[in-house]
Amino acid sequence: MIRDERLIFEKSVAGRIGFSLPENDVPEVDLAKTFGEGVLRDSEPEIPEVSEVDVIRHYTNLSKRNYGVDSGFYPLGSCTMKYNPKINEDIAAMDGFSRMHPLQNPLSAQGSLEILYRMDKLLSEILGMERVTLQPAAGAQGEMTGLMIIKAYHISRNDEKRVKIIVPDSSHGTNPASAALAGFEVVHIPSDEKGCVDIASLETILDDTVAGLMLTNPNTLGLFEEDILKISEMVHKCGGLLYYDGANMNAIMGIARPGDMGFDIAHVNLNKTFSTPHGGGGPGSGPIGVVKELVPFLPVPIIEKRDDYYVFDYDKPLSIGKVKSFYGNFSVVLKAFCYIMMMGSEGLKSASQAAVLNANYIRKKLEDVYDIPYNRICMHEFVLSAQRQAKNGVTALDIAKNLLDEGYHPPTIYFPLIVHEALMIEPTETESPETLDAFINTMRRLAGQAETDPEKLKNAPKTTYVSRLDEVKAARTPVLRWRP
Ligand SMILES: *Cc1c(COP(=O)(O)O)cnc(C)c1O
Repeated sequence: MIRDERLIFEKSVAGRIGFSLPENDVPEVDLAKTFGEGVLRDSEPEIPEVSEVDVIRHYTNLSKRNYGVDSGFYPLGSCTMKYNPKINEDIAAMDGFSRMHPLQNPLSAQGSLEILYRMDKLLSEILGMERVTLQPAAGAQGEMTGLMIIKAYHISRNDEKRVKIIVPDSSHGTNPASAALAGFEVVHIPSDEKGCVDIASLETILDDTVAGLMLTNPNTLGLFEEDILKISEMVHKCGGLLYYDGANMNAIMGIARPGDMGFDIAHVNLNKTFSTPHGGGGPGSGPIGVVKELVPFLPVPIIEKRDDYYVFDYDKPLSIGKVKSFYGNFSVVLKAFCYIMMMGSEGLKSASQAAVLNANYIRKKLEDVYDIPYNRICMHEFVLSAQRQAKNGVTALDIAKNLLDEGYHPPTIYFPLIVHEALMIEPTETESPETLDAFINTMRRLAGQAETDPEKLKNAPKTTYVSRLDEVKAARTPVLRWRP
């Protein structure tokens, strides 16, 4: 196949058009006369002049270069790339929802308000919290909202010396970043030999300057923090609050609840766990739930039900304010609502059970050929180390690149930072035993090749559109704009 590398701009031919408009049947307006010369542009816009078929082919071919969970297995640890049922997209696209206007009179939007209200109740139940705000646009913004609430809570008690947020060394980068953005000082605690929070270190840090602790459970190694009740008791005893990073909810839906573990605030990534693909380039949603004591601090508005009507309640004097325009990303919330209603409580629970089973299945089938630094029963994901292969010069990066040639999206690599040559594998619940076995066989074959023919693994990928990129250059000097 001849690959056409040209940008759409480079395919432009002067005068070619891809549309036709009806004759103008309204009076022409002289813009310069009506609005002044300043509104006119000096030159024609540099827009590609192409035909309809040029456009269709251009973008169809670009889309084929992409890899998504709809094209194949995508075991991206930490970010839950599971298949999302298309019926949820269909419902979100229904006119009654998609043509709503955020400034519409609430009286004519009662159905949508009811969905927001019921979603608050459903997520409160799933998280074990009192109330939920649906405003944050993703998990990271949920974190920042939660930290702003922690701050507002301490200030409301005239306890302003609490400036520290504790995060484990295995935590996701957004945790310390959100804490710093919210104006806190970040304190790291190490993991113990089991891969969990080191209780003795925690003990030494806890004092009356601690505002709170951020934790994900199961943690970033895919391990359940068994001492979570002890940890929450310790943090509460010193006057701090506990924030739950819910990116790993896919492991425990309907089985365990952050609220019951002692967390005061919890986010959930609808764009991971609840039927919106993560990193799809579209909008996300990271609602947070809070315990009763923190409800007054939630962003406004809260949706309440009064005399059979759903209304916006802005009367919250202690609220941290708004964190997102209007009411959050409604269509993402709606898809999550459909997903939860369709799954039911038993369905959500069995999804988590299958996600955990699938991860353990792969872990057991690979443990003799790869190192697994914290090798015990995992939750929905686990972390391999390619340290053994690296002795032959085959790194986690090489394995990831070879997986591309095998038709897989690679796992997350080099994260969490505490595992050398990390490959973080999360199969999710939606994969069949056949898919898991095929992946296991590929991973085993690559481990074998790392011993017999390591050089060969250095050249991958060969089947993708581009091979190894200069990632530093791409990150540091990105060219994001075409110029004539
Ligand atoms: C994905 C992730 C986040 C951030 O969530 P976004 O929705 O991407 O903002 C936070 N913590 C963990 C552990 C994650 O995996």
